[in-house]
Amino acid sequence: MERLQKVIAHAGIASRRKAEELILEGKVKVNGKIVTELGSKVSSNDKVEVNEIPLERETKVYLLMYKPRGVISAVTDDKNRKVVTDFLPEIKERVYPVGRLDYDTSGLLILTNDGDFANLLMHPRYEIHKTYVAKVKGIPSKQMLRQLEKGIKLEDGLTAPAKAKLLSADKKTQKSIIELTIHEGKNRQVRRMFEAIGHPVQKLKRERYAFLNLHGLNAGEVRELSPHEVKQLR
Ligand code: URA
Repeated sequence: MERLQKVIAHAGIASRRKAEELILEGKVKVNGKIVTELGSKVSSNDKVEVNEIPLERETKVYLLMYKPRGVISAVTDDKNRKVVTDFLPEIKERVYPVGRLDYDTSGLLILTNDGDFANLLMHPRYEIHKTYVAKVKGIPSKQMLRQLEKGIKLEDGLTAPAKAKLLSADKKTQKSIIELTIHEGKNRQVRRMFEAIGHPVQKLKRERYAFLNLHGLNAGEVRELSPHEVKQLR
């Protein structure tokens, strides 16, 4: 659901301010009824008319990106660093990332202009599994890995059950590669979980998001999700 004035502004026919005026003046209809409330929200299925003319709603776009390291998961950055949308081909729709990957984290990121879809994916009830591959300092013991799976006490609460698998360990350099699957999205969660067991993350990549993976993409590349994939995620 999105605010009516935002939907009108995004359709490109008026600024947000002007859209508010149009609503207050009784020039906007939703599903055939005049709406004068500025707080009204509409979904992508609602029919919006301005001055009796149906609004051309922005086409919904769903993208899967292999975010490189050193890029901000946002559409603008006040420090002028690279942002994920710098990697998109020229499209007129204004997409934004669903959730975030840290600046230094690479991997799978979904971008869309469908607010309802983004909210759905980010809702905790949805419990989307996200698989990360982390290069960490040291070699965590079996008990430590079990601890990651059972739950780690972080300052914002206990983490939910997870899956952890040691993929490789190098005794000489004292580094290991671990696959961790979680279904929450606390801020910097994976880094904080490893930090808490005394094995700080040196490199982090999100390999999978639900049933989606990065096959066929190089860092910085993007592909469209198929309608079938979008349906499966809903
Ligand atoms: N957990 C992290 O610590 N960082 C990310 O970017 C994603 C999950």
